[in-house]
Amino acid sequence: MPDVPLLEVNDLVRRYALPRESLLRAPGEVLALNGVSVRVMAGRSLGVVGESGSGKSTFARQVMALERPTSGSVLLSGRDLAALRPDELRRARRDFQMVFQDPYGSLDPRQTIARIVAEPLTALGKLDRATLRERVAGVLRQVGLRDADMDKYPHEFSGGQRQRIAIARALITQPKLIVADEPVSALDVSVQAQVLNLLQDLQEQFGLSYILISHDLAVVDYLCDEVAVMYLGRIVEQGSPEDLFARCAHPYTRALLDAVPRAQAGAVRRRREVFATASQSAASRGCAYAPRCPLADQHCRDVAPQLREIGPNHLAACHKAEAVMTLPTVAAGAASALVPDQRDA
Ligand code: ADP
Ligand code: MG
Repeated sequence: MPDVPLLEVNDLVRRYALPRESLLRAPGEVLALNGVSVRVMAGRSLGVVGESGSGKSTFARQVMALERPTSGSVLLSGRDLAALRPDELRRARRDFQMVFQDPYGSLDPRQTIARIVAEPLTALGKLDRATLRERVAGVLRQVGLRDADMDKYPHEFSGGQRQRIAIARALITQPKLIVADEPVSALDVSVQAQVLNLLQDLQEQFGLSYILISHDLAVVDYLCDEVAVMYLGRIVEQGSPEDLFARCAHPYTRALLDAVPRAQAGAVRRRREVFATASQSAASRGCAYAPRCPLADQHCRDVAPQLREIGPNHLAACHKAEAVMTLPTVAAGAASALVPDQRDA
């Protein structure tokens, strides 16, 4: 079945109810995913980027079948995960594993590395102890750790080593797809490159596919054939990393690229800004980015742009995509005109 995508996500929607603020008012809700569709072919990798609150982790949880989508579907090798019985889903989990951002929080401090790493395998069925230890030793070596590390506890390792342990745990079932949600964000910059190199080596060795989630475009550029940019629960641009860096077609992508050097300083303020616009957008019509967009006109405020093809394998949801593409690239230093309004929201 060479044509069946490894992963097919169709019009995924996920709402969350908010706690009721007043008895007089209906409880609010967050539209964390607002109609996301993507396909990933075997051996290919997709990067998902966007600011905090754009819905990246929600997307990861639906793909991993950790939560049920409000509507839409997730197909893995053509099988709809929501249609599987619990025992079928448990067996299907062999093929897709997850690596979380926080190597401190995601490893149980009271368990040995052997138990932690073997867990996805033991969840699939009983295996004898010798076989398990052999499998654990094998994956520990694949991630650059030693056999003897399996009898230690998480606190005995550095942040980078703990992320290697989390990767070993994901590898142990020989998955086809690994969903990594901000896998290097909690690590020192020098260690980030080592972990990304490891992920790349493993990809080449095993023909793995990744969904790599990051707020940092540089991280996904490194490992992914294709990148989807998310804004308030929607994909607003999708294409190769080259397309996104050299010919980006959505003002939001451009703002993200431009924000990279200032990311640390502006992180807190920007996050607040995103949440401020997030609550407006569910009810309002027009483009969700229009309130922040320096190019928005009345048409943008009235009519929501659809994701459309603006070049070979390059999609954007912007009425002005063609004009945005002709603007000088960020690297040329001319993008400051497109940086969203710096006023505090
Ligand atoms: P990201 O990973 O891109 O930072 P998330 O997927 O975590 O974004 O969140 C997207 C939106 O959904 C945010 O507005 C967030 O507050 C909201 N959200 C996520 N999970 C929940 C939840 N369990 N309950 C209520 N709201 C949620
Ligand atoms: Mg997240």
